[in-house]
Amino acid sequence: MRVLLVEDEARLADQLADTLRGAGYAVDATRDGEEGWFLGDTEPYDAVVLDLGLPSLDGISILRKWRSAGRAMPVIILTARGAWSDKVTGLDAGADDYLAKPFQPEELLARLRALIRRSSGVATPEIACDGVVLDTKTAKVTVDGRPVMLTSHEFKVLSYLMHHKGRVVPRTELTEHVYAQDFDRDSNTIEVFIGRLRRKLGVDIIKTVRGLGYIVEEPG
Ligand code: CA
Repeated sequence: MRVLLVEDEARLADQLADTLRGAGYAVDATRDGEEGWFLGDTEPYDAVVLDLGLPSLDGISILRKWRSAGRAMPVIILTARGAWSDKVTGLDAGADDYLAKPFQPEELLARLRALIRRSSGVATPEIACDGVVLDTKTAKVTVDGRPVMLTSHEFKVLSYLMHHKGRVVPRTELTEHVYAQDFDRDSNTIEVFIGRLRRKLGVDIIKTVRGLGYIVEEPG
């Protein structure tokens, strides 16, 4: 899962980026409004954390531009405490949720998980398939109750496929949602991660659809 963070307060931005990466997200972070708009307009994100007061282009304008261009990714806005009108304006401009500063990082993570689940049509914090359970809250995976240790990239691949289970995910799409923008991407490594995941899970829940991509099939 890949998240865009647009926040200009240096300390908060660094802290949030660390928190998001620690929670297993690929993170693109910028402190500039124009750049934030451009990234959200051109890169596929699973969710966006958007501050409202930003240099060069404010958060509400960014949001309106994205929505009028048909960019539908979930967006959570960060507002100043007590600024109720910002919340109203933000939600009306197309935000899916808001958080008033200051907030606990855990609350942001919980809201992000909920937004990402909802936008992928997953209702529960645990996603299960054939004995494999991915807990989105703890970023842990078990097979028949036995914990499986995954690297952060392996987890990102499995998490994306399980959030989109029942659908064939092309390798290019997987690549775009597993790596941050500044990462040296190589779509061949996805195949390596898939191979390792199959070995570690010990059950073959990830099917290769030749020429198309990968799928975690809904059981039954
Ligand atoms: Ca700001």
